[in-house]
Amino acid sequence: MTDERDETLLDLKEHAIYLASLTSVGPPRPSAVDAKAADSGSRDLAPRGTALAGGGGQPPGEGLQAIREWIGDCHRCKLSKGRKNIVFGQGNPRAELMFVGEAPGADEDEQGLAFVGRAGQLLTKIIEAIGLTREDVFIANVIKCRPPQNRNPEPDEILTCQPFLEKQIEAIRPKVLVGLGKFGGQWLLKTAEPISRIRGRVGDYNGIKAIPTYHPAFLLRNPAAKKEVWEDMKVVRALLGK
Ligand code: URA
Repeated sequence: MTDERDETLLDLKEHAIYLASLTSVGPPRPSAVDAKAADSGSRDLAPRGTALAGGGGQPPGEGLQAIREWIGDCHRCKLSKGRKNIVFGQGNPRAELMFVGEAPGADEDEQGLAFVGRAGQLLTKIIEAIGLTREDVFIANVIKCRPPQNRNPEPDEILTCQPFLEKQIEAIRPKVLVGLGKFGGQWLLKTAEPISRIRGRVGDYNGIKAIPTYHPAFLLRNPAAKKEVWEDMKVVRALLGK
């Protein structure tokens, strides 16, 4: 009984911390969830870097491979129970353009690769529309494991996975970041504003130009919104100096 009530209160607290992390300004925020604690079912909150990975709060070396090794066979959050594969993301490690999506879907979970389903095919077309190929860019997600039934990522999952994406961006250091949909866009701009309001807005992610746009899966359901994405991609192309 009390456990249930405490759990709800803690969930609310975690959600509030997540929202605060979205709206805070300045250098990378500390990730609020102690992932070891999350793994063991405890919801203690601790600053980033205290207990995140088997190897501590930092990858063991520089570069994407070190980050992948740091993630390991991750069981830091509850999504590990249902996933088939961790979807690290893929592409050019020196990409000038990096996309940040939401979370792997069924196809991605199956193949261990980001954006390989229908939404991924549309993303390929979007990339090609500005004269690039998938091999030129890097594509990753806010969270690296598929949520059950493709539900939205939850705050504790986002916070637990956050250091990995932060390190990926640090390693790639692209010129431009594109956030796909609500989760990618809000994560990059550290805002809780709706995607309809933030799309097309060029913001700053640690000194890197960051622009949210609609998610390709949304475009599959709302083809009329492709017009706005095209507007956003023209901005991206200009930011890349192409
Ligand atoms: N949607 C996403 O946000 N990411 C993927 O990798 C696939 C679909």
